[in-house]
Amino acid sequence: MKKIGFIGTGVMGASIVKHLLSAGYEVNVYNRTKNKTDELVELGAIWKDTPKDIAQTSELIFTMVGFPEDVEEVYYSDNGIFSGVQSGSILIDLTTSQPSLAEKIYKTAKEKGVSALDAPVSGGDLGAKNGTVTTMVGGDEEDFEIVKPVFTTFSGTLELQGPAGSGQHTKMANQIMIAGTMTGLTELLVYAKAAGLNLEKVLKTVGGGSAANWSLQNYGPRILKEDYSAGFFVKHFIKDLGIALDEANKLGLNLPSTQNAKKLYDQLKDNGNGDDGTQALIKLWWEK
Ligand code: NAP
Repeated sequence: MKKIGFIGTGVMGASIVKHLLSAGYEVNVYNRTKNKTDELVELGAIWKDTPKDIAQTSELIFTMVGFPEDVEEVYYSDNGIFSGVQSGSILIDLTTSQPSLAEKIYKTAKEKGVSALDAPVSGGDLGAKNGTVTTMVGGDEEDFEIVKPVFTTFSGTLELQGPAGSGQHTKMANQIMIAGTMTGLTELLVYAKAAGLNLEKVLKTVGGGSAANWSLQNYGPRILKEDYSAGFFVKHFIKDLGIALDEANKLGLNLPSTQNAKKLYDQLKDNGNGDDGTQALIKLWWEK
């Protein structure tokens, strides 16, 4: 079994590491805030002091940090992955990040005699807990085949989409869809409440018809319980929509609905809700 290194043990990463440990892998872990690895170390993971240490002691190195700047840091800083990587390793970035950064990492990896895959996921905190995320991979087929048994320990759906950057492009397409389902869910509830309907009944009923979707099923009930904790941070969704709109711009596309969703989420963050979950969008109406 290949030795695994895992950098970034937040909401998603910690759950994924648990699946790797349950599957019997030896897992080295590193996170900027050390105590977020405590539970994992109790479960058998091994703490390493830097991304460089992870790279020196692991064959498959996963990263799942927050923003593209964080990805840059863990790969390229003085104590970063590339400063310690061993030939034959495969680097796998699960962070939702820029396709261009995925291509850059792939090129640097090749120059250093290693390989890289971009593999962002979808399915939320619950998908990570249940080991059923959808994993969208970019890179070389031979590397994908090597990592596949590891991906399947935490993925329900898994597909190689094409060369480096294709996983991130697929995730951007995914987020463009989610922009619609989150604004749709929010406006559905705002309308149904104003019309005096029973919101639980409405969610149950429309969730059985052609309006059914993941956001409604997973975030609808959280909104009714006034549970605005993250699942998926508002600040990360804004990052994703920004990347999606930049990429669309490069492709000469105008995506007005995605632009509008970003404006609404920017407003939510400006109100101080950047660390809430994305279901908090409804606060723009209900907390007025
Ligand atoms: P999170 O809880 O903030 O986790 C990110 C982790 O990375 C944090 O523990 C953070 O450390 C660590 N980190 C950041 N920069 C680092 C660095 N330079 N060195 C070492 N560790 C670093 O976020 P998350 O919800 O797990 O999301 C992670 C990524 O997955 C994001 O790109 C997000 O967009 C994407 N994603 C999230 C979901 C979801 O539903 N949550 C679903 C799909 C994709 P600190 O503890 O110090 O902050």
